[in-house]
Amino acid sequence: KLKLAVLTSGGDSAGMNAVVRAVVKTAIIKGCETWIVREGYEGLVRGNTEGHRHTHTHAEKGGASPRLKGAEFHEAESFIHNLRYGDGELLKDGTGDHPGGRTLKGRYIVRVGWDDVRGWFSEGGTLIGTARSVAFRTREGRLTAAQNMIKEGIDALVVCGGDGSLTGADVFRAEWPGLVSELHNEKRITDEQATAHAHLKIVGLVGSIDNDMSMTDLTIGAPTALHRICESIDNINSTAYSHSRAFVLEVMGRHCGWLALMAAVSCGADFVLIPENPPDADNWADEMCQSIQSHRDIGKRKTIVIVAEGALDSKLQPIHSEQVKEILSERLGLDTRVTTLGHTQRGGRPCAMDRILPTLQGIEAVEALLESTPDSPSYMIGVRENKITRVPLMDAVKMTREVAQAISEKNFEKAMSLRDPEFRE
Ligand code: ADP
Repeated sequence: KLKLAVLTSGGDSAGMNAVVRAVVKTAIIKGCETWIVREGYEGLVRGNTEGHRHTHTHAEKGGASPRLKGAEFHEAESFIHNLRYGDGELLKDGTGDHPGGRTLKGRYIVRVGWDDVRGWFSEGGTLIGTARSVAFRTREGRLTAAQNMIKEGIDALVVCGGDGSLTGADVFRAEWPGLVSELHNEKRITDEQATAHAHLKIVGLVGSIDNDMSMTDLTIGAPTALHRICESIDNINSTAYSHSRAFVLEVMGRHCGWLALMAAVSCGADFVLIPENPPDADNWADEMCQSIQSHRDIGKRKTIVIVAEGALDSKLQPIHSEQVKEILSERLGLDTRVTTLGHTQRGGRPCAMDRILPTLQGIEAVEALLESTPDSPSYMIGVRENKITRVPLMDAVKMTREVAQAISEKNFEKAMSLRDPEFRE
């Protein structure tokens, strides 16, 4: 019987709540005990301060689960209330760039049951919080994290985040036996705890709006972000058409142009600039202007250019949306505006795909943990050609890093073939 905790880490994405829901419910069905960790790895490092246990649990009130035996453990009432209404202290120290969300006092690792996650698939962002944890990047931080997990009895971890979070997961698992023996030597855990927690089972799910992970076709949150971009472009189209204007739209995606490219296809953009296919540094502006002028010549009243935030030219110089605006205004005389879509791309309700994918992958994640042995690698759950897959987590992280490396070496064909190995064939 696994004692399993789930956390969300790194940049938030739609579908993370659906991951938590699917993991918790599947684990309960399979007879596991379940926890959530608040604020990503930071919550593991901070753990639970004694004296902050909630008293109003369902179990204590004698309220067994109305639906499923074994799911009756409940810290839910005050937990959910506090989650939504922020009755807690500000998380501010040690977390680097955390936006300053509120959290429960002294409780970061919370036991949850079936009803705690009910209906979560339709909520945007991540209700259990996410953070960028400076402490977890240090061995000392990870030592404390291990101690906090062992104190609660947790022996399996589901991490949903981007490549940084999954790298952290792999580092943690590789270090685990050393961390346990150090904790044991320092008498921070008992002999029994050291024996019972000799191995950590870990599995990764990719939550990223950028769709920037190798060895999987789609990351959790990317379809919703694309949907938000399409909605925004539809709104802009009406005004662009009315005034016969040009709009330069900057979309997110860091080093990955997937959102920009798919948005351009979805909305019939006139021109798109992405890092994976950098235009010739010496004449991309000419090429863009010719293309847009030809569209205007056949009577098009509006112009849409999509610029990925990481767009580059062939000399690896960044291409900025303001620069594109100036070119369109000066060379073509178009009344041009820049709209940076920003964080609206991250927010809002998950689209259907960002409920289906995390649900199927969450189920697979629990199964992978139940089948995991000390010798098996940590898996990342992905999707290939519509089938849910398991790939060694470190292979996927390594390949994702190699893509960035290939782009920095101007080897764009290699970058594309690494992102999608079938591109080669
Ligand atoms: P993302 O998961 O979205 O790529 P980050 O790169 O910020 O986001 O990673 C999220 C968190 O994962 C970091 O704040 C850090 O706590 C942890 N992390 C990332 N890389 C490592 C690493 N090499 N070792 C340990 N922890 C890491």
